[in-house]
Amino acid sequence: MIKPAFQPDAVSKEADFVLGTYPRPPFVLARGEGMYVYDTDGKAYLDFGAGIAVNALGHANQEIVEAVSKQAARLSHVSNLYHSAPQADLAEKLCQLSFADKVFFSNSGAEAVEAAIKFSRAYARHKYGEGKTKIVAFENGFHGRTFGALSITNREKYQQPFRPLLPGVTFAPFNTTADALDIIDQETCAVVVELVQGEGGVHVASKEFIQQLRQRCDQTGALLVFDEIQTGVGRTGKLWAYQHYGIQPDILAAAKALGGGLPIGATLLTGAVAQALGPGDHGSTFGGGPVVCRAAQVVLDHVSRPEFLEHVVKMGAYIVERLGKIKSPKIKQMRGRGLIIGVEIDGEAKAVIEQGYARGVLMLSAGPNVIRLLPPLIVSKKDIDHFISVFEKCLAKDQA
Ligand SMILES: *Cc1c(COP(=O)(O)O)cnc(C)c1O
Repeated sequence: MIKPAFQPDAVSKEADFVLGTYPRPPFVLARGEGMYVYDTDGKAYLDFGAGIAVNALGHANQEIVEAVSKQAARLSHVSNLYHSAPQADLAEKLCQLSFADKVFFSNSGAEAVEAAIKFSRAYARHKYGEGKTKIVAFENGFHGRTFGALSITNREKYQQPFRPLLPGVTFAPFNTTADALDIIDQETCAVVVELVQGEGGVHVASKEFIQQLRQRCDQTGALLVFDEIQTGVGRTGKLWAYQHYGIQPDILAAAKALGGGLPIGATLLTGAVAQALGPGDHGSTFGGGPVVCRAAQVVLDHVSRPEFLEHVVKMGAYIVERLGKIKSPKIKQMRGRGLIIGVEIDGEAKAVIEQGYARGVLMLSAGPNVIRLLPPLIVSKKDIDHFISVFEKCLAKDQA
């Protein structure tokens, strides 16, 4: 008699074969549509994490599916050795919609940050000669897991196993002008900052802080680099979060939402910085491939519309209004801008998030006590009402 082959499900297969760098909840996601994802049992989850600020237009957006399918059937990859129209179109669009004069494409946020670091070094060397190599970043910031990005991410747990890291990095307190201004000096080539610290607890940078960083960078010849990997592409209610601040960066790193669910990184730069770089100075086999660029074009076409950004502002305000009416002693503070919202609670975020899994809602954390909400930007009032009713129960249950 032939025994039926043992068929492990994805959970046990992963335990056997996927490197265990992520603790995952015990269900397997199989499909998505709009604001919802569904597991292999057909259970629906209202997605208030959007795959970590990625699915701005929700899941399985028809226009993205069509653009991607068409391009995949026509030409999916040629490498950056050759011209192709989708990349050229996307670069033009990104420059039209931002401060930038040039774009470098890669495949992820960390890569976009790596490029920003390398371009800052190259620019400083080109313009000022040797010795201007230091980088200033901020406490609680997050910039990614590759060596350069990790070196400017001030998190002991992430850095410790991998030292030594990139030398010459100094961390200044976030939103505290005086200290940061002293640390930025003539040897600084780049100041890298998030406009809303995402992973670090949803802390919004003050206007004064960012404007003073801009001034100090101008005084010292350091480049101001905004990591908008999480805040960019409409998340805060403007296409780019820097547009709230009345100033512009020299370099901006984008990723996450830009590809509509496909992997992309983009490093946006001014013409002045671009002059320091020429053929062969940086590269990527996949970066800015035709398929993801067509997806990104659809995302930008939607998200850059004033009505769409107005919707983000309104929905963000509505979530905060509804959260404000929850009578729970567990809610300590709410922070955020547009549709990046942090709810600091008295207790563990993890326990509330697990309640959410049981009740069919996906949420994220940002540190041990902050629940981070990053719904798709297409979220409606009805979705928010549903979310709030579940969230209330999650808080109450965790209290008992
Ligand atoms: C997610 C994130 C990154 C890293 O992006 P990956 O695509 O995971 O490499 C960097 N900076 C910020 C602000 C992020 O939110």
